[in-house]
Formats: sequence, structure tokens, C-alpha cells
Amino acid sequence: MRSAIILGGGMVGVGAAVHLRQRGWMVTLVDRREPGRETSYGNAGMIQAEAVRPYPMPRDLSSLLNIATGRTNDVRYSFSSLHRHVEPLLRYWWHSAPKRHRDAIAAWARLIAYATPEHDVLIREAHADNLIRRAGYRAVFREAAALDHAIKEAEADRREFGVNFRVLSGSELTKAEPILRNDLPGAIHWLDTWTVSDPGALVTAYAELFERLGGQIVLGDAQSLQQTATGWSVNTDNGRIDAANAVVTLGPWSPDLLHKFGYRIPLVRKRGYHMHYTGGATLDLPLVDKGQGYAMGPMVKGIRITTGAELTGPDALATPVQLASAEASARELIDLGKRAEPEPWFGTRPCTPDMVPVLGRAPRHPGLWMNFGHGHQGFTLGPATGRLLAEMMNGETPSIDPTPYRPERF
Ligand SMILES: Cc1cc2nc3c(=O)[nH]c(=O)nc-3n(C[C@H](O)[C@H](O)[C@H](O)COP(=O)(O)OP(=O)(O)OC[C@H]3O[C@@H](n4cnc5c(N)ncnc54)[C@H](O)[C@@H]3O)c2cc1C
Repeated sequence: MRSAIILGGGMVGVGAAVHLRQRGWMVTLVDRREPGRETSYGNAGMIQAEAVRPYPMPRDLSSLLNIATGRTNDVRYSFSSLHRHVEPLLRYWWHSAPKRHRDAIAAWARLIAYATPEHDVLIREAHADNLIRRAGYRAVFREAAALDHAIKEAEADRREFGVNFRVLSGSELTKAEPILRNDLPGAIHWLDTWTVSDPGALVTAYAELFERLGGQIVLGDAQSLQQTATGWSVNTDNGRIDAANAVVTLGPWSPDLLHKFGYRIPLVRKRGYHMHYTGGATLDLPLVDKGQGYAMGPMVKGIRITTGAELTGPDALATPVQLASAEASARELIDLGKRAEPEPWFGTRPCTPDMVPVLGRAPRHPGLWMNFGHGHQGFTLGPATGRLLAEMMNGETPSIDPTPYRPERF
């Protein structure tokens, strides 16, 4: 029977749920909260058509030293939790060698090419256009040499992947974003990326579309998943639900559940923080302050600053360092206003060591499927990988070769 339980209602799970339902499947989406309240809620809200290169681990000595000595705000770590990260980080290091990173880019860029087209369909069907701006974002630089270097990389991406951008001089940047400090050398305006004023609300809109299509959303604990004689079952607030298939789309929590079934899938868990600011200037488009390790964008609750990666324990308390540093850097650029919340939000980017998602059939359990590990761009990729997964589950010829994402590579 064509039935599935989707475990996890972030952007990735909801994307898969809509695509399966559109193919006539009986689909129940199970989450312990309402959809879109975890990682897919707190991100920077960018649907990143320009992000054709997944982030490798730095391999040069000076970058590693900067991280080790806490001199960069892009990546920080807590010493007491490092033992948890050693194995995935060693694998990440290995996969970040230039030749292997090129393989990851090829597999990643094929998915990114589908990102905005797939969102476009869902945005229209979900009537969510009010949440979207199709005007790109600006990467701003504080040093001319860094800008020149980034322009060369952007030109290579334009040649190879067709991504569009415009270089802004310092004065053009000031004209475009007048609230910004006016002595910056310039910016790269990435033109094809879309930005969302409330990322959680976009997931909600897609989840409501799923329900309008006849899908069911229930509260339940994915950890209760069991294999049965006919497929899979899970306990929910509406009682036990059975289906022939189960799909693990639990983002950073996915490996914990799969461990129960004997799968050991490593993740580099990169925590990020956000905070909103109100009462200051108003930004036109999101900015990424290159070299300072944060992004800031206009959202419904104010300007949202999102930080880079923190390697820490899953239950570790929030640490104020990265956000404080990002906030200080942002205050050098604009009148940021005041913090709008007492505590920062934080969530975890689910990053695989080889930088591509885990997507496909579980090798040893019929009817069990996986779709997680979208790293820094799961909000971007949910609808695209949801379509690919639905094609595979439905026995269609996949629109792109799914081999690089197969779960059995781990
Ligand atoms: C600071 C920051 C900024 C980012 N910026 C961007 C960006 O601009 N663009 C972009 O594309 N990506 C961005 N990302 C990455 C992106 O947010 C993630 O890749 C994406 O949200 C992952 O989606 P997901 O559906 O896999 O996971 P999630 O959104 O975390 O969904 C997993 C779901 O599983 C549920 N769940 C967990 N355990 C259980 C259980 N036991 N039972 C039932 N349900 C359970 C959770 O409640 C949750 O709803 C950012 C991430 C961070 C942290």
C-alpha cells in the first residue's frame, strides 16, 4: 500500500510530505511539536540559489589556528564537548580535501539547482508569497582584498553554475542600503537567492497546504517507531498509526532514532544562535558580514542576527560569546536597536561529514527511508529533496541521480 509516516515536520519533512501526498499517498506527518518550530524556524531565512558549494572544513594551518585560539567568529567550540565531535570532524577533514570537496560540490549543486523552482511551486500553492522577497542578499566586505578574492570566486561560480550576482562599489552599496556605515569597500549582491520574513511561518504554510491536500498531522514521539509485520508503526496522541513506509526527517535528531535500528550515521552538529533587534534602523535586504561570521536580515520580529557554527554538546546551555561578537560587529555597521528577546534562540545545523544529505532507502529495513543532513541549507533544500525522495518512493525515474546521497555510504 502507498502509505507513509513522515517523522519530523521541519522544512525537509514537510517538503517530502507534500510531494508524497501530491502523488496520492496516504501520509501522516508526526512531530512532537507543531511543524516548523525547530531548526527550520530559527534560521536566516534564505533560500539560497547561490550556495552551490557546501562548506568544507578549513584545512590550512592559519584558519585552524584561528579556530583553535578563538580568533574567528565563524566557528567556535567548547573544549569539554570536543570528544563528541572528534570522529565526525576527522571524516569531515578527509572529505574536505580539494578533490573530494569537488565531488561534494557536484552532488550538492545538482540539488541547489532545484531549490528555488521547487519552493516557487509550493509558495504559489500555499499562498505564501507575502513571506517572500525575490531580491537576493548582499555579502558585504570590510577589506578590498577580501572583496576582490570573493569576486573571483563568484565569477567562477557564474561560469560553472550560472549563479547571478552584481558587484557593488562602496558608494553603490551606500546608495542601496543607506543605513549602512559608508566606508566599506563594497559588496556582492547575490541576485537569485530569495529571503523569507518568517521561516517558521513558511513551513506552517506548506504544512497547511499538505493538510488541504488531505494529509494528516499528529503529535507523537518518533522514538516510538517500530517495525511491524506489514511495515511501521508509531505512537501518537491520536493512538497508534501504521503505514507501509516510514521516513526519517528528524534533522539533527535523525541519527539518534536510526541508532535504535543499527545505523550509525555521523553528523557534525553545528549549533547556531539568533536574536532579534528592534527600534533601530530598517534593513532593505539581508546582509552577510563576510569575515565576521554572522548574517542579519529584516524579519517580522525585527532584524534577526544569526551566528556561525558552534561545536558543543546537544544539551549544553547557550553561550553568549558568538552572538555578542556578532552583535558588536553589526553595531559597527548599522544602528541595530535593542535586543527584542531575553534569551537567544539556538538550533543545530545537521551536517554530514561528506557535506551531502542522507537521502534514500535504508539498506537493511524494507519500507524505511531517510532524508536528513542538509547542513547549512536545509531550509533551501527541503522541497527539492522532498521531491527526489517522493520520486524514489513512488517508483518514478528520479529527476537527478540519487547515488551520491545513498544512506549505505555510511
Ligand atoms: C543559525 C542558523 C541559520 C541557518 N540559516 C539557513 C538559511 O538561511 N538557509 C537555509 O537553507 N538553511 C539555513 N540553516 C539550516 C537549516 O535551518 C536546516 O538545515 C534545516 O532547518 C533542517 O531542516 P530539517 O527539517 O531537516 O530539521 P528541523 O527543522 O530541525 O526539523 C526536525 C523536526 O523533527 C522533530 N523531532 C525531533 N525529535 C523528534 C521526536 N523524537 N519525535 C517527533 N518529532 C521530533 C522536531 O520537532 C522538528 O520539527 C540555518 C541553520 C541555523 C542553525
